[in-house]
Amino acid sequence: MVNKAEVLKEYFGYDSFRTGQEQVVDALLAGRDALAVMPTGAGKSLCFQVPALLLPGITLVVSPLISLMQDQVRELVESGVPAAYLNSALTDSQYAHALRNAAAGKYKIIYAAPERLLTDRFQAFVQQVQISLVAVDEAHCVSQWGQDFRPGYLQIIEFVAGLAERPAVAAFTATATEVVKKDIVRLLQLKDPCEVVTGFDRENLFYEVRRPHNKKNELLAVLSRFRDESGIVYCSTRKNVEDVCDFLNEQGYPAARYHAGLSQVERQKNQEDFLYDRVAVMVATNAFGMGIDKSNVRFVIHFNMPKDLESYYQEAGRAGRDGAPAQCILLYSGQDVRTNQFLIEHGNEDDTLDEAAREEVHKKDRERLRQMTFYSTTQHCLRHFILKYFGEKSPMFCNACGNCTAAAEEVDMTVDAQKILCCVRRTGERFGAGIITDILLGAESERIQSLGLNHQSTYGSLSNLKADAVRTRIQWLLENGCLQRTDGDYPVLQLGSEASDVLFRGQKVMLRTVKEEKKPERRRAQP
Ligand code: ADP
Repeated sequence: MVNKAEVLKEYFGYDSFRTGQEQVVDALLAGRDALAVMPTGAGKSLCFQVPALLLPGITLVVSPLISLMQDQVRELVESGVPAAYLNSALTDSQYAHALRNAAAGKYKIIYAAPERLLTDRFQAFVQQVQISLVAVDEAHCVSQWGQDFRPGYLQIIEFVAGLAERPAVAAFTATATEVVKKDIVRLLQLKDPCEVVTGFDRENLFYEVRRPHNKKNELLAVLSRFRDESGIVYCSTRKNVEDVCDFLNEQGYPAARYHAGLSQVERQKNQEDFLYDRVAVMVATNAFGMGIDKSNVRFVIHFNMPKDLESYYQEAGRAGRDGAPAQCILLYSGQDVRTNQFLIEHGNEDDTLDEAAREEVHKKDRERLRQMTFYSTTQHCLRHFILKYFGEKSPMFCNACGNCTAAAEEVDMTVDAQKILCCVRRTGERFGAGIITDILLGAESERIQSLGLNHQSTYGSLSNLKADAVRTRIQWLLENGCLQRTDGDYPVLQLGSEASDVLFRGQKVMLRTVKEEKKPERRRAQP
């Protein structure tokens, strides 16, 4: 077989490449490095599988998850591509057998976990063969900025350097922010890579955040719109999965469950029940989904807020892979923030890191959690928020998310914003949101008096507003880079990079507020 179009058709059954694929394929065929950032479902695998069949030697795919390798290899073998995986799912003798086959040139594509690469046996094998391409899947795992840092990924470059001839190296990820992208290029030492970044916008997805008093009731209300349609409900803990799954079954919604605490047999069975539409709803932790390619998922509901937008985007992105409309709904509560904060401070620690590096990781985790919380509480366009986070420009209003379609009004708050920024500036960027709010409201508290803050020129300058309204405005300024909050036990507000536009260059600030239906006032019981 001689050309890429034939390979695409013969082995994979497709007539044409999707956006970005051909560019990566061409680069790799020409022996160039590549970095491909494409959303989940865009078709990253094909970008290295097609060249693998055309390059003279072996393509080595570094992949983080055994289940992912197994699925991909099974599919390849079914399509007639000679492929194999080398991981801990194999017994010792199976591993030795696979290595012998590989050394004899029986496979074009070999999947391996990063931790294998520098082992003696693997090293002995690669010295006997020609590696034409090293494809690094889920490449964000190399970066400590990424949400799934995996120390084993740092060995990849040592492995590549040890090869007799340097092959092309290609990195693939769905979740790269600018920092992660830079890290990937630096840590994998990509040489003048062909960079392909396809858009992050998934137009068929409708994003929505709800902040219900009772999440279970809200879940039922949402599910009633999706009778018999396939969907996933993500929960943060195994316990929540059990609880929500039981609840749904009791309420007449057949649901299966999936988390790492179940036996392998039960996980497999539940996954298949869901994949083959024997049960419509899957209640799961984030252990469910990486590599799951089910096209007709019509909704992904997050019962709990995930720890960062990378995770959210990836999990929510499992909806609507067939391109038909699908909904991604997050049920938010303040408790979710506290749970995630606790997990950051007390969760699994990486033993290979020293104290300073660990604190650095925590700091990044906290920043990502903060952005996720902003997403969950913003009144502005959710799609815009996501795209901005991933470094993409987009309109401020998509008209296809819960916030854009809610009955909302725009209020010009430029003057209020200036007063807030002025107050932060004039008090020396030394106080937290609580005190700043009190100054602006003109509070007569002892604290304010004792610090002499009642003599500030901005004291009471927003006394026409309620405390909540001032907090909303501060929140908006934080979200939009006009303010920033320091880390630590006593976070203080400081001016952000966008502040001077508002303060000195007449930048307008429009605040969208969703008109919430007023709750009927509850009458107080008469004594
Ligand atoms: P990713 O790894 O980017 O999440 P996959 O590689 O799993 O995505 O591909 C997602 C789906 O898109 C798969 O079902 C795959 O077969 C399909 N696909 C990939 N490339 C094409 C193409 N050129 N034409 C049609 N379908 C494609």
